[in-house]
Amino acid sequence: MTEPHPDIRPQPGILDIALYVGGESKLQGHAEVLKLSSNENPFGPSPATVEAFRASSGELHRYPNSDHGALRGALGRLHGLDPERIICGAGSDEIIAFLCQCYAGPGDEVIHTEHGFGMYRISALAAGATPVEVPERARHTDVDAILAACTARTRLVFIANPNNPTGTMIGEDEVTRLSEGLPPQALLVLDGAYAEFVPGFDGGAGLVGARENVVMTRTLSKIYGLGGLRVGWGYGPAHVIDTLNRVRGPFNLSGPALAAAQVAVEDVDYTAFCQAENILNRDRLAADLAALGVPSDPSFANFILAQFASAAEAEACDAHLRRAGIIVRRVAGYKLPAALRITVGDGAACARVAEAVAAFMKVRA
Ligand SMILES: *Cc1c(COP(=O)(O)O)cnc(C)c1O
Repeated sequence: MTEPHPDIRPQPGILDIALYVGGESKLQGHAEVLKLSSNENPFGPSPATVEAFRASSGELHRYPNSDHGALRGALGRLHGLDPERIICGAGSDEIIAFLCQCYAGPGDEVIHTEHGFGMYRISALAAGATPVEVPERARHTDVDAILAACTARTRLVFIANPNNPTGTMIGEDEVTRLSEGLPPQALLVLDGAYAEFVPGFDGGAGLVGARENVVMTRTLSKIYGLGGLRVGWGYGPAHVIDTLNRVRGPFNLSGPALAAAQVAVEDVDYTAFCQAENILNRDRLAADLAALGVPSDPSFANFILAQFASAAEAEACDAHLRRAGIIVRRVAGYKLPAALRITVGDGAACARVAEAVAAFMKVRA
């Protein structure tokens, strides 16, 4: 622990930030680990996307385009959205940070849910605002609890739908009810990092289009398999996008990132393949684990939240998986000590997980 300097002090809130801990990727004594801790796409990006990234290497001395027009155009065509109301960021993390920087400061409250994504709290504190945690109802976003927690100081309300690390989702009617019930100064942020895994789901874009107090964030880190590239985007009312663009650095996305992301977005057949594979492997894995006595809520994302009888059992299973060369995510930090979040790999990876959990449950019995 570094001691704070007596005179040179950061802004209030900054030292309250606990560093974000990403999914681990290495295990001692295992050359080939199966990493299922960060919800990455087991198939990686599409071949055309990798080719576009490679092809961009001849232009590394050039500054990138700063208005992201080509990528915003591709996103707008794919989703049927006005590109003028899209903003691109270095991951959706950057869009979340812009939202907090622009709309929340000292004395303001930023609501997130009990098991919600860690970056909401971090970005709220970084902006000097006060994060407010609201309980969930059996690992589902609880609209009534959020509305009850709203005050005259609430500026932002973050929900992920589907949620991480629970994998659960709430319906369009509930999200609409939330947007309608917020106090007038509050903005609802719908984090759609996993929206592409839900067939036919628009991530809340329709609601954004119909209202002035709803923003949607999206990412290319999950179904597009581009977590390493850092590309995300937001879609919102014109007044919000105009605001966020004022704090966005002009060159926040690199040239290779822009080039590869556009191709990824346009490669709809590959996205459809990844969506279908995920559903198949996820539902099989969930059924296999349930049959072993490890249930999970129906997941709408590319992971399942496996529930054990106790925190001790979840910890022991995690240790067993590690010995088998498999890294999953412990989620005690998300107030889910008796659960493990397991990313859906390809068919072989899921079979390996099911086998290892079966072996664990056998020795435990
Ligand atoms: C993975 C994830 C993101 C994506 O973050 P990026 O910065 O785009 O990589 C955003 N929100 C949630 C809930 C996530 O799980």
